[in-house]
Amino acid sequence: QTESERAAAFEPVTTLDGRRLHVAANIATRAEARSAARSGADGVGLMRSEFLFLERQTAPTLAEQQAEYRAAVEAMDGKPVVVRLLDIGADKQLPYLRLPATPNPALGERGVRLWQTQPALFETQLDALLEAGRDLPLCEDGLTALRLMVPMVADVGELRWVRQRLASRAASLGIERLPALGVMIEVPTAALCADDLAREADFLSIGTNDLTQYALAMDREVASLALRSDVLHPGVLRLIASCLDGASGQCPVAVCGAAAGDPLAGALLAAMGVDELSVEPGRIAAVKAGLRRLDAGALAARLPSLLALADAAAVRQALQELSGSLL
Ligand code: PEP
Ligand code: MG
Repeated sequence: QTESERAAAFEPVTTLDGRRLHVAANIATRAEARSAARSGADGVGLMRSEFLFLERQTAPTLAEQQAEYRAAVEAMDGKPVVVRLLDIGADKQLPYLRLPATPNPALGERGVRLWQTQPALFETQLDALLEAGRDLPLCEDGLTALRLMVPMVADVGELRWVRQRLASRAASLGIERLPALGVMIEVPTAALCADDLAREADFLSIGTNDLTQYALAMDREVASLALRSDVLHPGVLRLIASCLDGASGQCPVAVCGAAAGDPLAGALLAAMGVDELSVEPGRIAAVKAGLRRLDAGALAARLPSLLALADAAAVRQALQELSGSLL
């Protein structure tokens, strides 16, 4: 990474053919928010709030959470910060939250499904986020600076349930303006129902790690499947295309899974029309530099032939051959 690439990371990014994108950061803590700001991130696209809840004997209090969220927003100095609501279950467990043993935790009560049975934990987090976002100025896009995002949504009913809980907590705290509320697209049905979700959500963010796992029925924790469990599988790409198609014009769509930071997959996702890539802070400069070299329109024109290929390896190979000319 060159000095000039690091400096250019603080500038807005457009592709070679003039398409504007945001490059945001994935973080876990307020310390990482500071490193995101120092890397030139256009915002935080994913703050994994569960890191506040892990490795401790009791749940973080409202005040502890509020301080952490507020510090992250302050570090980003007016740029958007998306906090993903507690995503517990599957590979992440809490000592103070006894969940019944289940044969397939990745398919069990996790993400938004869990909150319906854990109202106290959930409401404390909503209250902390509402307080942390109280009275902050709006961002350039007209949305609140502190934004909430719901993991593992399968249908619009779950979004409505969260919005209703949020409105009710806001009313009891005397807060009139609700924070922007987005949906993670990581369950295949959510990608297929993106038109319904986008009509009611303020933004969507594709979690390619889980979307790939659930679309291919390949556990993301199984190392021997890692090579085949690739977002570039034509079927996963078709799900993403369907999501973008459904959302089009209704609300912005980001990608916050690891694919956003992969040079080939990130370029393809940008060409497919996503508005934001959210990546590890250390990848911001390289991802912005890659987007500036990308002819998004020309790559988008190749999409039908890429989607017709047999498997992820073939798509990866085809993209590799295009790098140097289009990306
Ligand atoms: C994802 O599933 O792509 C995602 C960003 O969330 P996590 O990796 O935390 O499950
Ligand atoms: Mg996920």
